[in-house]
Amino acid sequence: MKRLMSMLLCVALWVLGLNVNAQVSLDYYLPQNVTFNQDVPTPSSVIGHEVGEWHITHDRLVQYMKVLAEASDRVTIEEIGETHEGRPQVVLTITHPSNHVGMDKIRSDHVWLTYPNEADKFDTKKMPVVTYMGFSIHGNEPSGSNSSMLVAYYMAAAQGPEIEDMLRNSVVLLDPSFNPDGLNRFATWANMHKSQNINPDPADREYSEAWPGGRTNHYWFDLNRDWLPLQQPESRNRIAKYHLWKPNVLTDHHEMSTNSTFFFQPGVPQRTHPLTPKLNQELTAKIGEYHANALDSIGSLYFTKEGYDDFYYGKGSTFPDINGGIGILFEQASSRGHAQESDHGVLTFPFTIKNQFNTALSTWKASVDMRVELLDYQKEFYKSALREADGDDVEAYIFKAEKDPVRAFHLAEILAQQEIDFYRPSREIKLEDDTYSRDNSYIVPLKQRNYKLVKAMFETRTEFQDSLFYDISGWTYPMAFNMEYHGMSSRDYGRNQLGTKIDEPGFPLGNVVGGKSDYAYLFEWHGYYAPKAANALLEKDIRLKVATEPIVVSEDLAFDRGAILVTVKNQSLNSDELFQALQDISIASGLKIHAINSGLNDGFSLGSRTFLNLEKPKLAVVVEAGSSYDAGEIWHLLDTRMDMRVTKLPERRVGSNAIDRYNTIIITGGLDLSESEMEKLKSWIRNGGTLIGTGPAVSWMANNKLTNLSFAEVEYPDTAEIEYDAIENYYRSLNIPGGVFKTKLQLTHPMSFGYYREELPVFKRGAIFIEPSESKFANPSTYTEEPLASGWISDANLEAMKETSAIRVTSLGSGRVVSLVDNPNFRAFWYGTNKLMMNAIFFGRLVNGYAAK
Ligand SMILES: [Zn+2]
Repeated sequence: MKRLMSMLLCVALWVLGLNVNAQVSLDYYLPQNVTFNQDVPTPSSVIGHEVGEWHITHDRLVQYMKVLAEASDRVTIEEIGETHEGRPQVVLTITHPSNHVGMDKIRSDHVWLTYPNEADKFDTKKMPVVTYMGFSIHGNEPSGSNSSMLVAYYMAAAQGPEIEDMLRNSVVLLDPSFNPDGLNRFATWANMHKSQNINPDPADREYSEAWPGGRTNHYWFDLNRDWLPLQQPESRNRIAKYHLWKPNVLTDHHEMSTNSTFFFQPGVPQRTHPLTPKLNQELTAKIGEYHANALDSIGSLYFTKEGYDDFYYGKGSTFPDINGGIGILFEQASSRGHAQESDHGVLTFPFTIKNQFNTALSTWKASVDMRVELLDYQKEFYKSALREADGDDVEAYIFKAEKDPVRAFHLAEILAQQEIDFYRPSREIKLEDDTYSRDNSYIVPLKQRNYKLVKAMFETRTEFQDSLFYDISGWTYPMAFNMEYHGMSSRDYGRNQLGTKIDEPGFPLGNVVGGKSDYAYLFEWHGYYAPKAANALLEKDIRLKVATEPIVVSEDLAFDRGAILVTVKNQSLNSDELFQALQDISIASGLKIHAINSGLNDGFSLGSRTFLNLEKPKLAVVVEAGSSYDAGEIWHLLDTRMDMRVTKLPERRVGSNAIDRYNTIIITGGLDLSESEMEKLKSWIRNGGTLIGTGPAVSWMANNKLTNLSFAEVEYPDTAEIEYDAIENYYRSLNIPGGVFKTKLQLTHPMSFGYYREELPVFKRGAIFIEPSESKFANPSTYTEEPLASGWISDANLEAMKETSAIRVTSLGSGRVVSLVDNPNFRAFWYGTNKLMMNAIFFGRLVNGYAAK
């Protein structure tokens, strides 16, 4: 790796080209030998400052793009959707005016290349290449979006036969801001701290953003991990556009640490996902030569084939690799604000923009030069995928969630958005102990053009060429959604089992079964949105109880532990109003709510003391401490899915009387509390509060005696024989990069209510292992004897993990402390474990004193 690096590193000096306080001009960015159409407006004529003088705000960015599209017959603009904060996501289509006339046909011909049986009808020599250029998905990596105005201006205004030729042979989809909310948040920060005398001192507040920073979107999600799961609107809007076009090349312009140089893909060769064809990496490297030339010509340092990888398909630069395209990651050393001292001298914001601008242009040039090669590659990608499907032992995947069709629906929704073909089964299918019914199951055949994408989402993988990962190593979707599922072999499967094809899955219908009752209602806790339903009722001051024992109402009607009892008498609503409310809630939550007309059911009475009162959660999640991702995921889960109010409580208020208004506080990391603040938190728990900690917070809670857990030791291999150049990688490999591991639930424990199968796959990263309690009743969940399901883990960590606790509930006074070793809300697509968080919130306080020791 080191040798490769020195071969590929440019030896030119780092030329910044700009004095810190010099006025930047358009000439600084643009190539010298090109003339520009004077009728096309420059960025500064619209945004009111030169590019790089201030950080562009999103509204001005959009304003410029609109004016540009108005003025140029090479450019059109459309809004593809809105962000959480209501900002428009715009995409420009830039090509030769003659192509704009027949755009629909150009697009549909292009997409036909991805249909193996149709592709040969189209002559790639006569087709334009499609390049999707995207910028600053991390909002605080702003050089990308700021350069996008220059890229668009150049493509609209540059003149000459070469430009005409490039426009004729390409369609560029230019997405100037992948993350408008984050970009704007960061622009505000950088601009509000700018001095007239620009101060490059790295200690200045300008270069040190306040928590959570501008990297993420509104709910603090990393949008560059969401290309596959599509849990955020920004991603759904973008991927709809992506699939409409199936681009050949997609660029993803980022920034990295200030003391770095510039990176372009390919990444570390042995860390490419095995489903990505070898030719993909070769083409990426060939495109890389264009970036090298461009950066050489302006004297910029760079590196390639190290540091970053091409493994997790949820990233913008890797997602195209499983969709017949080439994804390219660019990483520019960040000036963060307007100029900052670095190992390479003062790094100015305009300089970072200039590098992004030049590599956007080199991508364009490479795409056009390699046009036929890229189009043929795309065509062959889908053809060879079909051939590979022929050789696969698995013919189809079938999945369902027997008692929670909503969860299965949400997985089906992703498949539909990713243009994967799937069906209802034409008849009931029995596989081992599972029966897949026609209206409750989905079947995904592998012999389809998106074979590779299906594999990427459904396969489990535990063998790897390398032990280091830039991101997660396992993400198997049916496990993330805790589906009952099977890979069907040719023995199990025939095409006649495919029933109705599903293009848009429908949200499961909820209703009140049995109509209005004057006595009571019951609903199961299995449903994904059961907590939302319970909370909606508690918000109306309806008293609820939870069943801690199974209930048999009649021969045909029984309920599991966790079922919610709503009695009719003596409530804040009369029986008609309550019925109406329950109808609305059942529909919104996709739940079956059952009318019960008698208190004595097969010997089981609804007044039984095994029903416990449910308290209305009054929630705070602590912020400004721990990971903003983890906190954001909780905020997102509670706010957008469960319709629950949660206070984002700053860490500094945890030790104050402010916390007395909550009965539940969630922390995602250690807190920095004084002795008296810690005492306040402890007395809040002793008085009945529930403290829930996830991941790193578990260690902190144990170290501060909020819970009495002990940690399992890991026996890492001896380092005596490791050589100097391997020691860094050795220590990195001690971590668990993120994968899927199996746990075993104790189904009678309140923390497991709503689950109906013992085995639960969880997402795990980081190596924290809790010794299990000696008493079975105090272990709601433990890792199994063979916990690895999908992903990479070292032998030592795997050995240490076996049969340790994944969840513990302990008491402190009359309060409870819930330790969730793993993050149950990972990136919002881990639907299977969200219920653990909801159970901690609703039932944590109900765990009895025997178990909560
Ligand atoms: Zn980034």
